[in-house]
Amino acid sequence: MVNLMNEFFPYIWPKGRADIKSRIILSLIILIFAKILTVLIPYSYKWATDALVGENTTPPIIPIAVFTPIILIIAFGLGRILMVAFNQLRDVVFAKVGQNAVRQLASVSFSHLHNLSLRFHLDRRTGALNRVVERGIKGIENIVRLAILNTVPTIFEFIFVGLILLIQFDWRYLLVVTLTIISYSYFTIKYSSLRVVFRQKMNSHDEDANNKSLDSLLNYETVKHFNNEKIEEKRFDEAMAGYEQASIKTLTSLSFLNFGQTAIFTIGLTLCMVLSGLEVKAGDQTIGDFVLINALLMQLAIPLNFFGFIYREISQGLTDLNSLFSILKIEPEINDKKNAISMKFNKAEINFKDVSFSYDGKRKVLQNLNFNIPSGSSLAIVGPTGAGKSTISRLLFRFYDVTNGNILINGKDIQDISQVSLRKNIGIVPQDTVLFNDTVFYNLKYGKIGSSDKEIWKVAQQAQLSNLIKNFPDGMNTVVGERGLKLSGGEKQRVAIARTLLKNPPILILDEATSALDTLTEREIKQSLNELAEKRTTIIIAHRLSTVVEANKILVLDKGKIKEQGTHKQLLRKKGLYADMWSTQQTIKKAEATLKNVKPEYKKLLSS
Ligand code: ATP
Repeated sequence: MVNLMNEFFPYIWPKGRADIKSRIILSLIILIFAKILTVLIPYSYKWATDALVGENTTPPIIPIAVFTPIILIIAFGLGRILMVAFNQLRDVVFAKVGQNAVRQLASVSFSHLHNLSLRFHLDRRTGALNRVVERGIKGIENIVRLAILNTVPTIFEFIFVGLILLIQFDWRYLLVVTLTIISYSYFTIKYSSLRVVFRQKMNSHDEDANNKSLDSLLNYETVKHFNNEKIEEKRFDEAMAGYEQASIKTLTSLSFLNFGQTAIFTIGLTLCMVLSGLEVKAGDQTIGDFVLINALLMQLAIPLNFFGFIYREISQGLTDLNSLFSILKIEPEINDKKNAISMKFNKAEINFKDVSFSYDGKRKVLQNLNFNIPSGSSLAIVGPTGAGKSTISRLLFRFYDVTNGNILINGKDIQDISQVSLRKNIGIVPQDTVLFNDTVFYNLKYGKIGSSDKEIWKVAQQAQLSNLIKNFPDGMNTVVGERGLKLSGGEKQRVAIARTLLKNPPILILDEATSALDTLTEREIKQSLNELAEKRTTIIIAHRLSTVVEANKILVLDKGKIKEQGTHKQLLRKKGLYADMWSTQQTIKKAEATLKNVKPEYKKLLSS
């Protein structure tokens, strides 16, 4: 708890922000004024009541001639308006403190999440992670708002009321009120802690229902393909049934909490009123005193009413904040060395020296890889699915560190180079291109922020995209949909190629870069890709061997090991795995070509 306070204190009392600190002090001053006023207002009521029954209890400093009962009643109204004005002013002054804390924490969390490694993100559900951050941020907002703007003023008010009861009346009133508040708080805290369990259940069912709905909608097409709408509805409804049960318990227990709180408070209030009533009868108190005690206590009931809610929100806020801070404490797996160098290569020679890698420490995905890619040359990596081809590109980008061995660029271990400069020098056209839910233009420009429209159109043309863009409803300003789903696979791949052209890096990775394109477009794009690759060190990852024939060297990977390497011709001559894969693919290709020429009526016959 103390640790947590230390962690979030800098967000509320930020270093070097005199403006925020002075706002806190100013709002505390306003708060004290508002509370003094709150406690004094019932006095005008007392004086008015006494004046109405013919007794003058106004202090001598206030001339009674001016303060007739009516004016006292008006003063009561004005006092209340002023009190509300003070309270609102305090909120206005304080708003920036809370919102600044929210913004700082949100920004820190966001950049921290981007700093964390790929492994962390693959292990976590993005939706759940987002919720932890969202809740943590809401948590700090609630703590700031409710603790400082509500709990602190209520404590002040209680102290003021207590003093009045003791000085103006006697200790018995103070005792009754103190005991009432203690039992009220005890009951509220105990019962609210019980309710936390219901609430947690409600939240987890809510999360479950949310995840199911999100997952189901993301799989919209799969659901339709398999006609499984009913199953999806059932799964979602089951999750909602859990939520329903937990919500009913939460709501029912809230009613009991409200009843208990009101009962405790009313007992205390009634006791005080009985005491006062007896004293009025005995002539020791005026009717105004009776009214004053009632007004003071009724006023105190208002913030106390929220006590359960505030307690729950603050304790929930602390829990949420704790979860967020525990994520903020996670160290990124991949870190720059203290003396990491920033490199800009014009030419890049890549060396894999005895590289082994395992994602989980158990299964070796790459084993003792040794290969060299001279600057400006191309290396194709082929092999069965799951052989570890894409893993090589992830290691080169340093999303993971090698388990053994070294990866060198121009003789420098990539672990000695800063991640920013390393990644600046590598471009990739990935297997699955994911786009931002923004315009085509934005997604292209992402390759090099700050590039001109002319440059963007040029790369779009090189990637055979410009004609397609012209046919889009809003041209370059067409929004591509979530993850770019409104574009076809081939269109997305072209966007990826174009933005890599824009990035213009010395090292290029083409991970199945043309797999989603038709043969004609592939041929056209290949030309620009070849031009692009000419000056660069290029790694081509491919399934279709026809795309790697021209590579300077081909590496055949199987189960994480290099099985064969050489040029296309050398490998064919070897009559090994590559030659086998080549002849299988050629046979399939021939069969497909033959099928293309088959008359439609025969095609039907063949497929039946
Ligand atoms: P494909 O041709 O199908 O793209 P690939 O040769 O590129 O396959 P990789 O993506 O490099 O294969 O994966 C190699 C192996 O590592 C696979 O068995 C895969 O299941 C495993 N793998 C990939 N990513 C992870 C991960 N994040 N955690 C654990 N295992 C992984």
